[in-house]
Amino acid sequence: MRSDATQYVRFPSGQGYPVAFRPLSALADSMREVGLRPGRVLVVSDRNVANLYAKPVDQTLQADGWEPRVLALPPGETTKTPEHLQAIYDAALTWGIDRKTPIVALGGGVIGDLAGFAAATLLRGVPLVHVPTTLLAQVDSALGGKTGINHATGKNLVGAFYQPSLVLSDLHTLATLPEREWNSGSAEVVKHAIIGDQRLFDLLTESWGQFAVRDIDTTREVLRRACQVKIDIVSRDEREQGPRAFLNFGHTFGHALEAATEYETLAHGEAVAIGMRAALYLSRRYNPKLNYAELDALVSRIPAPPIPADIALGEVMQAMRTDKKAESGRLRFILVKRIGSPYVTDQIAAADVEAAWRHVLVT
Ligand code: ADP
Ligand code: ZN
Repeated sequence: MRSDATQYVRFPSGQGYPVAFRPLSALADSMREVGLRPGRVLVVSDRNVANLYAKPVDQTLQADGWEPRVLALPPGETTKTPEHLQAIYDAALTWGIDRKTPIVALGGGVIGDLAGFAAATLLRGVPLVHVPTTLLAQVDSALGGKTGINHATGKNLVGAFYQPSLVLSDLHTLATLPEREWNSGSAEVVKHAIIGDQRLFDLLTESWGQFAVRDIDTTREVLRRACQVKIDIVSRDEREQGPRAFLNFGHTFGHALEAATEYETLAHGEAVAIGMRAALYLSRRYNPKLNYAELDALVSRIPAPPIPADIALGEVMQAMRTDKKAESGRLRFILVKRIGSPYVTDQIAAADVEAAWRHVLVT
């Protein structure tokens, strides 16, 4: 793999995979470089993304001798269901795939999670290539090997850790991303800056205007740094036993907001942006020296709709307590001492959590 814009996830076991920022037209070459050899390849996408980008992907694959087939599913979170997983199984197995037939997940986090889980389970595992097309997927969900689908009782409750062979992100695909999707992804970018990279934080503070209009050079540098934060964390913690928890900064609050608004009002990253404001407020309570104003100023630049006025404190507190992924009843928070120094704590007084909520809720 060329060294120019390529980063690597590397596990202590020695295994790992490249994360390359390259044009879609370089997909076939990049697949070759990780040892995948032409044959059948199933490209899973959603209809929006397929309309925009299936053709160049199909072309690069065909030109290198692959026999691609594109499966375009409906867009949106409601596609992360057993029914659509079944649709992938049907397309793959009735067509005829073997253990070496890769699945290319072309799309945002929804397609990455769903097609990734299909790859993890088809024939007990076929090669997976992530081609993320949303900001959120490029800096976050396509890195780290989480795959899965939703269940009626909660999100992402059925899934597996399954590492891809390659992640190829084309920055140019971000040009067509709807505004709110961009904003949603920018929350995870800011999160990565706060938990892991002072220089990224400074860059965002200085260049937010250019980043917000998706200036390509600014975006390239921001994404390289934001990905490196996640890569460093997941490389140390393949299966979420330790430092991966830091990636949940803002998420204890954010998930509760998403649940309380029934996943309708706020995009994931918008909820996380608001959640980070609450988490910073709580962080200052326990770390009075935190440069709170500077941190809050950056987080506040992420556009998010207002929380509906009828969302009450009691509701979000309850939503926090019933988060399916909460461990053993005690609320766990990721707080920061300063930029790059996150920590996990379950020693937080309920009154302080409530104060943090009041800070962001419309009261
Ligand atoms: P996320 O990555 O935030 O989990 P999704 O996978 O749900 O998001 O994608 C968000 C929406 O954006 C979907 O409607 C999807 O079809 C659309 N989308 C994804 N990538 C692009 C793109 N590069 N250009 C335009 N629309 C896109
Ligand atoms: Zn998130």
